Amino acid sequence: MKLTFLGTGTSTGVPSIACDCETCTSDDPRDKRLRVSILIEHAGQSVLVDTSSDFRQQALRYGLKRLDAVLITHCHADHIFGLDDIRPLNFRYGALGLYANERAWVDIRRIFKYIFEPSHFGGGLPQVIPHTVEPGATFCLDKNLLITPLKVIHGRLPVMAYRFNDFAYATDLSEIPDETMALMGGLDALVLDCLRFKEHPTHLWLDKALEYIEKIKPRRAYLTHIAHDVLHARDSAKLPAGVEWAHDGLVITDERRVDVE
Ligand SMILES: [Zn+2]
Ligand SMILES: [Zn+2]
Ligand SMILES: [Zn+2]
Repeated sequence: MKLTFLGTGTSTGVPSIACDCETCTSDDPRDKRLRVSILIEHAGQSVLVDTSSDFRQQALRYGLKRLDAVLITHCHADHIFGLDDIRPLNFRYGALGLYANERAWVDIRRIFKYIFEPSHFGGGLPQVIPHTVEPGATFCLDKNLLITPLKVIHGRLPVMAYRFNDFAYATDLSEIPDETMALMGGLDALVLDCLRFKEHPTHLWLDKALEYIEKIKPRRAYLTHIAHDVLHARDSAKLPAGVEWAHDGLVITDERRVDVE
C-alpha cells in the first residue's frame, strides 16, 4: 500500500492569498500546502480521495497516469471543485467510478448539473459512474484492497472517512461517532484532520486530534488539512512520538505488506 499526500492544506491553501505571516512567507516546501487530497495505490488500483480545487496541478506535479476510482469525503468546494479535470483521464480510459454518500450526491448533482443534465451537444464532459457509499459497508476494487466508508461529523454535516485495509483517511471532522471508533482498530497508519492549535467548530485542533489518536492507537498518525497557524519545522517539536504533520508530496507505505505485487 502506498499513500501519497497530494495536498495537506486547509480550504484556502497555504500560503493564503494576501497573507504575510511566517508560514505564508516561509521558504520551507513543507509549508506550501495545496488543498487536501490523497492518492492510494495498491493491488494494481489507483484511488483518488477528493477532486480538490488543486487537482489538475496535483495530477501534473505527481505524474498521475491513471485512476481506477474517485472517492469523495464531502461536497465542500475545496474537496470537489477539481472534478471537471478528470476529463483527460476519461478521454484515455473512459468513465470513472465516483463514490460518495447520499448527502454528497445531492450536492454533486446540483453543483455539476451540466455533467448529469447536459444542455447542449459537444464539448467534453466528465464521465462518471455514480456509486453511493454507506457507513460500514465495505467494498473492494480488488480482493486485496478493502475499502470501508466511515461516518464522521464535520460540524453538523455527516461526511465520509475511508479505511483502506489498515490505512485510514479522516479529514474534515469535529467528531468521530462511537460506531466509527469501533471500525478503526488495528490501524497501521491514520491520517487525521488537524486544522490548527486553537479550537474550531467544524475541524479538529491539535489537543482534540491527539485525544482521538490516543484512543484509536494507530501505529503512526499524520495530521492534515493544516492552516497557516502551523509552521512545519517549528511545530513538529510539539507532537508526540509517532505523530507527524503531513506535507504535500509525503509518501507512506505499508511496511507490513504480505501480498506480492
Ligand atoms: Zn476541507
Ligand atoms: Zn499566513
Ligand atoms: Zn469541509
